Amino acid sequence: MPSLKKIFLKLCRGPRQDTPTRPAVSPALPVSSVTAIPEKKPAKTKKKAKTKKMRSNSKVDCNIIEGEGEDSHSRSPSPDPITDSWRMETDITDLDKAEKPPSNIHEQHSVTKLTSKLNGTVMTPKKVLSRESPLNLSESLGNCLRPSLFPRVPPYLKFVPHDETIPLKVPAAIQKHLKWKLTTITPIVVKKTLMNSGFRLVKSECDTAECPQEETVEWVGIWGKHMKSLMFRAIKDGQKMNHFPGTFQIGRKDRLWRNLQKLCNKFGVNEFGIMPKTYVLPHDLKLLKHEWEKYAANNERWIIKPPASARGTGIKVVSRWAQIPKKRPVVVQRYVSKPYLINGSKFDLRLYVLVTSVHPLRIYLYKDGLARFASVKYNSELTSLNDRYMHLTNYSINRLSKNYTPNEDFAACEGHKWTLQTLFQYLKTDKNVDTEALWTSIKDLVIKTIISGEASISSLTKANITSRYNCYELFGIDVLLDEDLKPWLLEVNISPSLHSASPLDIHVKGPLVSTVLNIAQFQVPIKTNIEMLSKDKPHKMVGLPYDSRLYTVYLSKEERDKHIIYTNMEDRDMYLRDILSTLTPDDVRHLIQAEDELTQTGDMERVFPSKDSHKYLGFLAGPRYYNRLFDAWETRYGDKRDPGIELLRNLCDIGYHLEVPPVPLKNDIDAPSPAPSERPSLRSVPSDRGSVAVLPTVSATTVPPVPGAPSTPVSLPPARNSSPVTRPCGDALALRPPPALEPRA
Ligand code: ADP
Repeated sequence: MPSLKKIFLKLCRGPRQDTPTRPAVSPALPVSSVTAIPEKKPAKTKKKAKTKKMRSNSKVDCNIIEGEGEDSHSRSPSPDPITDSWRMETDITDLDKAEKPPSNIHEQHSVTKLTSKLNGTVMTPKKVLSRESPLNLSESLGNCLRPSLFPRVPPYLKFVPHDETIPLKVPAAIQKHLKWKLTTITPIVVKKTLMNSGFRLVKSECDTAECPQEETVEWVGIWGKHMKSLMFRAIKDGQKMNHFPGTFQIGRKDRLWRNLQKLCNKFGVNEFGIMPKTYVLPHDLKLLKHEWEKYAANNERWIIKPPASARGTGIKVVSRWAQIPKKRPVVVQRYVSKPYLINGSKFDLRLYVLVTSVHPLRIYLYKDGLARFASVKYNSELTSLNDRYMHLTNYSINRLSKNYTPNEDFAACEGHKWTLQTLFQYLKTDKNVDTEALWTSIKDLVIKTIISGEASISSLTKANITSRYNCYELFGIDVLLDEDLKPWLLEVNISPSLHSASPLDIHVKGPLVSTVLNIAQFQVPIKTNIEMLSKDKPHKMVGLPYDSRLYTVYLSKEERDKHIIYTNMEDRDMYLRDILSTLTPDDVRHLIQAEDELTQTGDMERVFPSKDSHKYLGFLAGPRYYNRLFDAWETRYGDKRDPGIELLRNLCDIGYHLEVPPVPLKNDIDAPSPAPSERPSLRSVPSDRGSVAVLPTVSATTVPPVPGAPSTPVSLPPARNSSPVTRPCGDALALRPPPALEPRA
């Protein structure tokens, strides 16, 4: 079969064989066989480094350092055919000599077009930057910063645990800007971790000479309550919040059930029967009545819960129809009446789950957690149903019981709270449980739980967030094991308690917090005056602060075309084979972020994506481009990451990942990003119900069918003639599901 490579080479053998300044087509060959290496350029005369104010994503101001080559073009470095040249190293010998791409610009275009048809998008580095010597962090910076795996990617701030006795020394020029905005719920363990890592904690109402009020809006991180989706628009470039828009879709018990129910109907109970059957009242009252009668003879037990509450508030175990509220909004759930017992007591598990990205989906599961025991031994008598100390395992309830025994020793199987690690050790050694299989089923439950909210979270994130830097979220997932050790999902907490009063709690939650912050990857704030950091060698510091280009959600035309092609491929083998052949700058940005994250996992396990996680892709609302990209990446490099990392390094080395399209003009994109003046401030947006993120309608045009794509034409936004740009990334399919409604307050 003539390979794409050969077809491409034929096409390139045009009538003219002039020596090109650079090839028209770059990594169109299989990536495994290609290494892009820039030719050495003569050293340029140094431009004076100066700071330039620029707009980023039409909503923020940021300072970019101009000069030193790579930063002289703020967003989309334009080609400079005279000074830039490069060659490809491929597994085809003599390619350089024999197969010169045409230099004529029209020929270049036609080659690009034709090759695009054959092989998806073809990307040509617009500007090849001089090779970057790795950022040489001085001792003082190395102490508080961790370099990226990749050149031309700013380093990340280090977070050290809450109990570190020697706080990190952060140079004053950086520390000045390390402001963390306090909220009423910022946990003490988070505060200690931040202070140990060089952060200053600022209150929003702070207005002192030392910390004037306008300064407090320049925070870089916040650990707060969940907000209405529209309020996420107030998050500026370079700021990070511990939530994604729309996670109430799994954080509320009624929404969680509805989302899982949809998947259950579609994929069957065997796959998605992970939560005890639930009825959302008053809507499902009739259904419940019907079900109730079926089970009445067995004295079935049910548990009634408020739809959006926590800590066991308002929860009751019942067995009589008269006990069911008929008008009040509650969820009524089948009671798991045969739980797995330890020493005669029921317990549940608190799992900690971190999501760093929704599209592509990246989920981490903490290897430790908590097992929380009921303080009264379990029995199944109907007469004991009122005993909350027997049927509920919440710490906030059981600590009030006279039987409650705290466990101060994290390694001991004592008292009414154990660590997850200790529990697993106990199950393995004392009960001969196959704990690996149990962990696998827990991971499965976690992935499916997050997937159940993925469509809504993803669409609300797309509508309200214009920087991939802005969000990450730590969830607390509660699970009950039944007598067969099947894990049942009870609920998802979007603000899990990090209260750490006991040594056992702090043992689990302390390292959790620093790991979460390290995986979330904070960078040196934009405003940092890098000249102050290294007076003699300020040029060395170029590339130090946060660079918004790395997190842009906008796509070039070529990138968008690639999304369309690969989102519409039906066959996994096809996209596995080809999607990595042509990495776009945007692909590279996603992959480097994920690879850098992976170096920080500590006691977190990345459960999605993994080498085997592709089986979950079919459960998502539709095919998603980035999940396919990561599926291919993990399939190819999951067992052996080094070649993948090396490939990305080479691409970063020539500045490929910094090629970004210009920010679309206002009204030119389908997910509006309000100008700073129009952006609601965190305070000004009303916190009442019903805010909806409205997306303007996109008119549809069609593209020719792609081999392997479904026969129905794909809907696309109208082509734009003048600009190669862009819309926020996401599915290539333009017709998006309507954004979900916000929950009622
Ligand atoms: P909350 O958010 O108020 O903690 P949960 O759904 O976690 O509500 O329920 C509180 C406790 O009730 C759980 O920790 C568990 O012990 C018990 N529980 C909840 N649902 C069930 C169920 N379906 N079957 C058995 N026990 C349950």
